[in-house]
Amino acid sequence: MTDALHSFPPTLDAATERLAAFAPRAGSEYARKRNFDLGPGAHSHVSTLSPYLRMKVLDEADVSRAVLSRMNAEDAEKFLMEVWWRTYWKGWMEQRPAVWASYLDDLGRLHNEVQTQSGMRQRWEAACLGDTGIAPFDAWARELATTGYLHNHARMWFASIWIFTLGLPWQLGADFFLRHLLDGDAAVNTLSWRWVAGIQTQGKTYLARPDNIAKFTDGRFVGVQGLATEAPPVQAPKPPERQPIPEIAAYAGAPGDRVGLLLHSDDLGAPFLGPLGIDPVSVGYIDTTDAQSPWDVAPFVPEFRTRLAQEASPGAVILSDAQAVADWASEHRLDHVVTPHAPVGSTRALLRKLRKGDAVPPLSEVRREIDTVAWPHAKAGFFKFKAHIPDLIDQFAR
Ligand SMILES: Cc1cc2nc3c(=O)[nH]c(=O)nc-3n(C[C@H](O)[C@H](O)[C@H](O)COP(=O)(O)OP(=O)(O)OC[C@H]3O[C@@H](n4cnc5c(N)ncnc54)[C@H](O)[C@@H]3O)c2cc1C
Repeated sequence: MTDALHSFPPTLDAATERLAAFAPRAGSEYARKRNFDLGPGAHSHVSTLSPYLRMKVLDEADVSRAVLSRMNAEDAEKFLMEVWWRTYWKGWMEQRPAVWASYLDDLGRLHNEVQTQSGMRQRWEAACLGDTGIAPFDAWARELATTGYLHNHARMWFASIWIFTLGLPWQLGADFFLRHLLDGDAAVNTLSWRWVAGIQTQGKTYLARPDNIAKFTDGRFVGVQGLATEAPPVQAPKPPERQPIPEIAAYAGAPGDRVGLLLHSDDLGAPFLGPLGIDPVSVGYIDTTDAQSPWDVAPFVPEFRTRLAQEASPGAVILSDAQAVADWASEHRLDHVVTPHAPVGSTRALLRKLRKGDAVPPLSEVRREIDTVAWPHAKAGFFKFKAHIPDLIDQFAR
């Protein structure tokens, strides 16, 4: 097994045990120590739950509930805010899907530039291989490539050095993260990189400073030389106008229909479909991780997701592409396919493609109520969203 799958076992038990072990530490200890990055294998001040949240084998309500069974909301405030930041970014992107589309366009153009411009290619390769001569940056690049995880503070420093010291386009850095992070997420990753670059909160950038790195790596990297001393915002178009999140038509299969359940790499949440009374004749799983990038994805990322899917739904048929989904539907003579809602990202693109053809039967998405209620609150900045968190917790996590 790779280091990544050792550190993050692809099992439901690993997710729930990790949550139970971390919950008592989600209070003042987290608030005081969460910014310290102690290095590979030593991320004891944070929960390391993100790969499981990303796959929705746990959701924000599960995590909030576990923590609030151990302490009150004031003591857990810092941790709970972080947990719901994820929801905020998801909701923000759902209302501005053009931001993801334009990231993909930029990435296509940059892929071409990396092939054709040797200077850019050399700097990009050195950064991806951890061969820049900037010791902490190189260590983080290697940690990410071997473990599939980086501490939040390391992600911020890394992104800042990528953009402002190495002068590389933020989109290539976001792509490097998405190809290696077990928790790599179209919304959270893209918007976090935009935030460091000064595009998301317009004009506000994040500068990695040697003294801050020395302090919060607990002295592992002291006196880092050669970092940019200023971080001028990256120029970019204004974000598109907010669009309402589309309603989703209710599942309308007839009794006796042969229904297939299609899980995917944006939601393994078969249990939340239970109340619909669906008894699928077959369960399929499709992983769209590879479709996120023009470059190769680290094999441990789809492996983590696929193995978690097989654990969550034993016997799930692993489907490789749209044609395989069509073949699966035909083999099982499905009248209907039900699938968890796919947020902005590569799975949504695949579902669109499936709907366009006539090779699959009607396909219904089911969105989790927590997302339906929470996402529309991500209208503007986080602080307006934050005001809704206590109600969201009362509604879903008590
Ligand atoms: C440049 C950059 C890229 C990032 N890319 C991703 C990504 O692709 N996927 C991803 O899940 N997170 C991403 N993050 C956010 C954050 O770094 C990770 O969620 C966090 O480090 C996960 O580790 P943890 O579970 O130990 O976090 P903890 O500190 O234990 O936090 C608990 C949970 O809260 C959520 N959370 C914590 N910090 C953030 C944050 N800053 N923004 C949004 N949610 C947060 C996560 O779901 C996390 O699991 C990125 C941050 C930066 C700066």
